[in-house]
Amino acid sequence: MSTAVNIHPAVDNIKRADAGFAGGTLTCLCASNPVTVQITGQVAHNHVCGCTKCWKPAGALFAQVAVVGRDKVRVTANEDKLQVVDESATIQRHACRDCGVHMYGRIENTGHAFYGLDFVHTELSKESGWAGPEFAAFVSSIIEAGARPENMGAIRARLTEIGLPPYDALSPPLMDAISTHVAKTRGVLKDA
Ligand SMILES: [Zn+2]
Ligand SMILES: [Zn+2]
Repeated sequence: MSTAVNIHPAVDNIKRADAGFAGGTLTCLCASNPVTVQITGQVAHNHVCGCTKCWKPAGALFAQVAVVGRDKVRVTANEDKLQVVDESATIQRHACRDCGVHMYGRIENTGHAFYGLDFVHTELSKESGWAGPEFAAFVSSIIEAGARPENMGAIRARLTEIGLPPYDALSPPLMDAISTHVAKTRGVLKDA
């Protein structure tokens, strides 16, 4: 039964973005002294991600993650509890050391195609109106986190059913954006 596939708690009933949505506050899962992060604006490119680096809620096969300009992200409480999960990773994921939730991911390499964008999990906010997920990225990677390979057909079918086209990298427009950035950086591609 494809409906038994637990993609992510936020995506079985995908909500549409509210026009003019101004953002909200992300709160970690700590019962006391939670870390809070204020996002002043709508997110873009929201998607579910099967990689093993993104933070996932308990029991979920996928993370849900979106991007927003780093100038729109501000830690508003208990910043001292944040630590970077892996200093060597392209995306520096700032996690709460007590509950483990990733509050924001930041790219510090100014040459990266996505420099200037932070990665956030909008489900950590009580506000509704966030742009919903649009596709599923790195689907095959969930096997590395323990998903059974023989279930992948059912999982891809369920993703397609709920309107999230499954890809084994990022979506084609985002892969094109990365390659366009690389080609321009190397001088292969000139502005038309
Ligand atoms: Zn916490
Ligand atoms: Zn990921």
